[in-house]
Amino acid sequence: MILNENLLQTIKSFLNLDFEVCGSIKDHESSSGNKIILEIHSQYKEKVKDEDVEKSHCYHLSYSKYIFHTHPYYSKSYPSATDIIKVMNNSIIISSLIFTKWGIWEIYSAKKMKFNDIQKAETKEILNKFLKGIYENTDGGRADVVNYELIEGYIKKIEFFYKKFGLEINLTPWSRIVDYDIIFV
Ligand SMILES: [Zn+2]
Repeated sequence: MILNENLLQTIKSFLNLDFEVCGSIKDHESSSGNKIILEIHSQYKEKVKDEDVEKSHCYHLSYSKYIFHTHPYYSKSYPSATDIIKVMNNSIIISSLIFTKWGIWEIYSAKKMKFNDIQKAETKEILNKFLKGIYENTDGGRADVVNYELIEGYIKKIEFFYKKFGLEINLTPWSRIVDYDIIFV
């Protein structure tokens, strides 16, 4: 499934917003050929709690094979532990794309497991330990310029730790993207 430059520029423009955008990417077959459709689930919740965090979050109404969300420019430009767990935990999700200032993250997990609450909390703690390395080396995940090799190093540790899941996390910098081909189709 290929996301062309127009579509990517549209999603990239969402990064300027002060809230996350999320939804599904769907391949729509019609007589005039295949079309990629962005299904936006919710950009903004009217009834929100006082905390900004709540206000800026986007909630998927449902999951599908290819889901996406944005991490706006002001927020952390790497996946959260919850973002990663979501893909390990839900058999319906093949691939999750996260659009950030640094580029496009793609999370894929070959094997799935239904975590109970305790396992989820443990996994979250383990992932956060690894992700802390990224946080500490990138101005809290908000640096404009980053060392991609260093980030990759931390990601490799996560992939290795969860290799029984076949977990793969890739970051493709914007500078390397013209059209983006979702890898795991
Ligand atoms: Zn996220």
